[in-house]
This record gives sequence, structure tokens and C-alpha cells, in this order.
Amino acid sequence: MFSRVLSFCGFLFVLAGCAYEEPMPEIVYRPGPGAKPAAPRVIKPEQAPKDTYPGVPRDWLPPSRLEKRWTAIIIHHSATENGNAAIFDRAHREQNHWEGVGYDFVIGNGTNSGDGQVEVTFRWRKQIAGAHCGGTAGNWANRDAVGICLVGNFNNTLPTSRQMQSLSKLIRFLQKRYGIRKSRIYGHRTTPGARVTDCPGKRFPFARLKSMLDY
Ligand SMILES: [Zn+2]
Repeated sequence: MFSRVLSFCGFLFVLAGCAYEEPMPEIVYRPGPGAKPAAPRVIKPEQAPKDTYPGVPRDWLPPSRLEKRWTAIIIHHSATENGNAAIFDRAHREQNHWEGVGYDFVIGNGTNSGDGQVEVTFRWRKQIAGAHCGGTAGNWANRDAVGICLVGNFNNTLPTSRQMQSLSKLIRFLQKRYGIRKSRIYGHRTTPGARVTDCPGKRFPFARLKSMLDY
């Protein structure tokens, strides 16, 4: 009998234990006399980089430790209906026995790359001399000028409007970065010292291109 009473009391105790709740401690903050709220920390906004080019793809900016001072721009056509940087790279290796594609940039016409797509080649990424304008005295054009090739044969057709838009955007970027004026932008065939060539094609709209540039 006694053990029964004991176990009943134990049962009650467990119930009470479950129901019992400890009150939450109350936290009160009372600053001492003379205490001042801490001044908010001032965080300076990130400094904007010196040269900013809104809307310019990152790979147009060469690695800063390799970057050269380019002084001119030379425009070419591929003289083919199709193509892209990889196709010209293979052709220049196999047929010309060069290190690879001769240009710094290739602008597609929608055949083997996007219409107006700008491809950056290893020459620009490594900031090494081009192989796009031989015959110039001291090889100045390959050494100092940026070579841009538009896919197409502009003896027969005109560049697409997207190609022209991309070309002018790329040239504006290069002009701003290297201080190159319109007078230092050449078609291959009007490059001082270049061999006789049709490049970038008899129909290439040079006047229109220059009207798309500011200086
Ligand atoms: Zn050319």
C-alpha cells in the first residue's frame, strides 16, 4: 500500500515538473552617468578604379602587368564570307606558319561566330606584336598598332550594322585608353608602308566609321 502511495506522489511530481516554467530573466540597460552612445563607424565607399569603361567587356582590358602603349589601329577584312578567330588561327598556323591568328580582335558576321561578336585573341591577352600588316618599316604596324579583323569580304559586301557598331565601340575604347586619334586609324591598305592590298575591301565604309567616332 505504502509503495503505491509513493508511486502516485511521484507521478504528481513529474506532472508538476512538466508544468513548471522558470520566468525569463529581464535585461535592463541603464547607462552610467556620462556614458555616450558610441559614434557610428564611417565606412568609406570603395574607390572607383581610375579608368572606367561602362559597358566594356572585361577581356578588352589587357592584363595590367603586360599592357603596352598602342599608338594606332589597323582595320582588316578576312576576305572570306565565313570565319571566326579559331578558324583564322588554324589557317594562320597551317598556311602562314605563324604562332597563331595574326589579329588582336576578330568581329564576327553571324556565320561562325555571332553577328557583331568581338573575339579577343591570344595576341591581345599577351600584348604581343601582331602579324597582320607586314612590310611596314621596322614592322611598326605589327609592333605598335592594334589589328582588328572583320569577318567578310568587303570587296563584295558591306559589314553588317552590328559589326560596325561593335567596331566603333571597340575603337572608342582603344582611343580612350591609349589616346589614339582618328588620324591614326587606318585601313590595311592605307597604312603607311604597308604592301599593296585591297584589305579591308573596296566597299569598306571608312567615312561612315569615322563619323561614328568623336575624335
Ligand atoms: Zn588586312
